[in-house]
Amino acid sequence: MSESFYDVIILGSGPAGLQAAIHAIRRKVSVLVLGQPSKSSIFNAHIENFCCLEAQSGSDMIKVALARAEESGVTFLAKDVMTLSAENDHYVVEAAGGEVLKAYALILAMGISRNKLGVAGEKDYVGRGVSYCVDCDGPMFKGDPVAVIGCGSAAVGAALTMIFYASDVHMVCEQLEVDEYLAEKLRQSEVMVHESRKVSEIEGDDTGVTGLVLDDDTRLGVAGVFVELGARGAVDFAMKMGISLDDTMKYIAVNKKQETSLPGVFAAGDICGPPWQVAKSVGEGCIAGLEAASYVRKRKRTE
Ligand SMILES: Cc1cc2nc3c(=O)[nH]c(=O)nc-3n(C[C@H](O)[C@H](O)[C@H](O)COP(=O)(O)OP(=O)(O)OC[C@H]3O[C@@H](n4cnc5c(N)ncnc54)[C@H](O)[C@@H]3O)c2cc1C
Repeated sequence: MSESFYDVIILGSGPAGLQAAIHAIRRKVSVLVLGQPSKSSIFNAHIENFCCLEAQSGSDMIKVALARAEESGVTFLAKDVMTLSAENDHYVVEAAGGEVLKAYALILAMGISRNKLGVAGEKDYVGRGVSYCVDCDGPMFKGDPVAVIGCGSAAVGAALTMIFYASDVHMVCEQLEVDEYLAEKLRQSEVMVHESRKVSEIEGDDTGVTGLVLDDDTRLGVAGVFVELGARGAVDFAMKMGISLDDTMKYIAVNKKQETSLPGVFAAGDICGPPWQVAKSVGEGCIAGLEAASYVRKRKRTE
């Protein structure tokens, strides 16, 4: 067996991948984690809703998780995966830089990429009024006016949730794309819907976001902007390998053991769909790590 052969290779070094690594290695299998920790969604977040820790920065949480995994004997390679394929009885992973790595089992934990609004001011105010997660940041805007941008059920759900916190809730969307039940709930609510409108710019100052300019030059004075335009999972790899996606065709379909449709390939975290939360990611990572290790041990016993 070459040195580049591991029992389990984990793609992604965010909360899901690191928790998977910590649980897998305790079952006495060799584990490699690939991916750049600083590219995890949590890295620029401030986490206040994780049950077991005081509110703290996501980057600090990742540093602790990396140290835990390293102490346990996990090997790291801070590189992205370029290609994945199946070969005889194992999987082959090609990392950026050309390393070829092989494993009996894979855990896909590459997270998601949230769709951006792409207007002036958005990047400047991320974490200072611009947010992509009502469940994470909603309570920070108690008593403030906010806007939710988006047309789908996630956007409507976010706007209805923000009514409990914010003084005023605006919703900006080009054309609502929800069923009649949600549309009626929205009509009955206090949310001010600006339909057939686009956002041109997010304004702010040293304190953070101060307002939103729409394409008809209307200015909304808001302290928070929630961008709810959906997300892209790292599904390209999955599709190329023939791994099934869920009903939305955006995320990887898994069962309760975090197994995908390919034997020996597991998935965990945001890549498996919402809610995009640390608690869900580490829970799924734990199951994926244990199950992947059991899969490898069983295979070795029967070979
Ligand atoms: C601004 C912000 C605030 C948030 N606030 C909260 C909060 O308050 N509470 C909460 O619970 N959640 C919060 N979240 C969500 C939370 O960060 C995610 O749910 C969590 O990080 C998901 O973990 P994950 O391991 O599935 O994915 P990620 O943490 O995104 O990690 C994915 C990993 O995969 C790697 N990767 C991607 N592509 C490849 C590839 N091709 N090859 C190798 N590696 C790859 C990345 O580099 C990264 O290491 C927030 C997110 C954001 C963006």
